[in-house]
Amino acid sequence: MIAVPIIASSVEEAKKQARKAGLIELRLDYIQNLNEKKLEQLIAIPNKKIITIRRKDEGGKYKLDEKKRIELLRKAVDLGVEYVDVEARTNENVIKSLIKGKSKIIVSWHNFKRTDKKQIQETYKKIKRLNPDIIKIVAFANTINDNLIIFDLIKKAVKDKKKIIGLCMGEKGEISRILSPALGALLTFGSLEEGKESASGQITVDKLKNVYKVDKLNSKTKIFGLVGNPVSKSKGYLIHNNMFDKRRINAVYVNFLVDDVGGFVNGFKSIINGLSITMPHKKTIMKQLDKVSSTAKQIDAVNTVVKKGNQLIGYNTDSVGAVKAIEKRIKIKNKDFVIIGAGGAAKAIAFGIKKKGGSLIILNRTLEKARLLAKQLHCAYDGLNITHLNVDCLINTTSVGMAPKTSKSPIDKKLLKGMVVMDVIYNPKYTKLLKDAQANRCKVISGEEMFVNQAMEQFNIWLK
Ligand code: NAP
Repeated sequence: MIAVPIIASSVEEAKKQARKAGLIELRLDYIQNLNEKKLEQLIAIPNKKIITIRRKDEGGKYKLDEKKRIELLRKAVDLGVEYVDVEARTNENVIKSLIKGKSKIIVSWHNFKRTDKKQIQETYKKIKRLNPDIIKIVAFANTINDNLIIFDLIKKAVKDKKKIIGLCMGEKGEISRILSPALGALLTFGSLEEGKESASGQITVDKLKNVYKVDKLNSKTKIFGLVGNPVSKSKGYLIHNNMFDKRRINAVYVNFLVDDVGGFVNGFKSIINGLSITMPHKKTIMKQLDKVSSTAKQIDAVNTVVKKGNQLIGYNTDSVGAVKAIEKRIKIKNKDFVIIGAGGAAKAIAFGIKKKGGSLIILNRTLEKARLLAKQLHCAYDGLNITHLNVDCLINTTSVGMAPKTSKSPIDKKLLKGMVVMDVIYNPKYTKLLKDAQANRCKVISGEEMFVNQAMEQFNIWLK
């Protein structure tokens, strides 16, 4: 179940927002000059609803006296609204009396600074003793592993046959907003649109429903995801969740914002089935794995992990992703290639080209890095100040031209003649380099095509 927080300042605006939602959490602390009449008008909104009047010291906007707040909550219960939220720090006798009424009572507790295991366990016990209909515990995630504390709490509540809402706030807690219902939580919250979040890390209801298919997730759902930092700009979650849905596979793909890859693997190994790995963890992940494929070892980077039994195995699909895209245009064997850049992407692509029998020149801003990579690949190298190019294919592997600096290109347009031009950048899809190449009648390959190819390879590895 997904509840949509309505954070309107007027009754009319709340009514308007509610029309676009199913179950709503009416955050009455956002309503200006809240009184009994407004409460009645709001309760008359036909959606199923949770009534919440969050105090300022509990992270809300309500600043008036506590007695009035309790009166309003009691009135909501008397009017038979489906759910009423009352904070665990509210007077215990008040909570007990509300529990006796017609509505289902959610006793909630928030920590906006951290997720503290001991504090959460004690809070759960304390709320459980009151025997409310629903226990809600929400805490701020400072690390991705904080989500595991909330996941354990949900599992405990399920075992105790208690209804629970358990979530982590913040960017690192985003995964809990997707995965907690699959673990047995009663519901998650999704904002109506970006900018209308009632708590940090909230995802839109549209994404929860239509991308992550939250309503269909259950205890058998396989969990996959991207490990990196940053991860928010990656489009992999769209590709992978769409593939799972199309092929009717009970699986979900989420973004894991990870600082410490060792800690992440230790904590999450038992719940994940496969991973994509991006910067800055493509190399450091290797130490955490039981096996690494020979290709990934040669490239010295892993971008794909699959769990087989209890073993984690690493692969690199960047190389295949690029080679497939190139071979759709030209056969690599005996052709001449120039690669701009000498980083991780350059190495993966260069390795793939060499393996297929192409010949290579590496051009890089830092000559020493070009020299080192060229030495490993037994190929030529140079700096970026070249005046002439006679190759079959040019590939940019630097971030020059990536959004927001889309007016930049790593190479002079005049040099782009009679060749295939590829860019690994996928934001924007058509970079200045590719536009220049098209203007000079070159065939082009976008980074998006490589990205989709490598994602498809990952998909096949995971589900083999
Ligand atoms: P990396 O290891 O950090 O290497 C970056 C390379 O870009 C280096 O050679 C660096 O040169 C060069 N560079 C950076 N800024 C430059 C500038 N202003 N002028 C000239 N050269 C510059 O990064 P990476 O892992 O190879 O990733 C590079 C790009 O590939 C990223 O944008 C990434 O998103 C993209 N990528 C795309 C896919 C895909 O599927 N489409 C897959 C993997 C990566 P120096 O050595 O001089 O610093």
